[in-house]
Amino acid sequence: MSETLTIALSKGRIFKDTLPLLAHAGIVPVDDPETSRKLILDTNQDDVKLVIIRATDVPTYVEYGAADLGVAGKDVLMEHGGEGLYEPLDLKIARCKLMVAGDPNQPQRGGRLRIATKFVNSTRRYYAAQGQQVEIIKLYGSMELAPLVGLADRIVDLVDTGNTLRANGLEPLEHIADISSRLVVNKASMKMKHQRMKRFIAQIAEAVAARNAA
Ligand code: AMP
Repeated sequence: MSETLTIALSKGRIFKDTLPLLAHAGIVPVDDPETSRKLILDTNQDDVKLVIIRATDVPTYVEYGAADLGVAGKDVLMEHGGEGLYEPLDLKIARCKLMVAGDPNQPQRGGRLRIATKFVNSTRRYYAAQGQQVEIIKLYGSMELAPLVGLADRIVDLVDTGNTLRANGLEPLEHIADISSRLVVNKASMKMKHQRMKRFIAQIAEAVAARNAA
């Protein structure tokens, strides 16, 4: 009997960069999530399905076993906490840095530093480790705007080229973490479907190694 594998992915950068790795494992989706409205995509393999969900939901689907495996950014995993998941493989895709950024010339308001971010948990942990008391303001996007309009002194955000920061007169100031996408797996699936999961993870690991050697 063949065991079904359900893999959770998010649209966009992660999906695009994961496709070649799946292809190396012989898995090719039948539909394109950018044009299809389907949330469950069939693949050329009857026993492999892809579920297309929001990036921040991937750890939750995998934790609860709604997906056996998933691909999620380290930023998302750091926020989620990673409970109930194994993280066997760094896929080395969608790489960037989690950083503190701001305008170094902006006069500081008095009192506690105010930080705007969507990465509330990672930010709290970072400043706690420095022994610094800060006020964190949760935003859902366009963090770069916050220092420009006096909402915050600093932001914590993902930085790739730094162009978004520069375009808004901000600079990267402190490095918090290197980010890349990780393969995450459900702990129970790892036990129940051991051979199938081990084979899949080995194939993806091989694809990552082959790509990095190229
Ligand atoms: P950049 O202007 O190249 O520094 O890119 C920064 C913008 O792209 C920020 O808004 C980030 O949230 C987003 N970004 C950059 N890299 C990633 C990534 N690997 N995953 C998700 N978002 C990213």
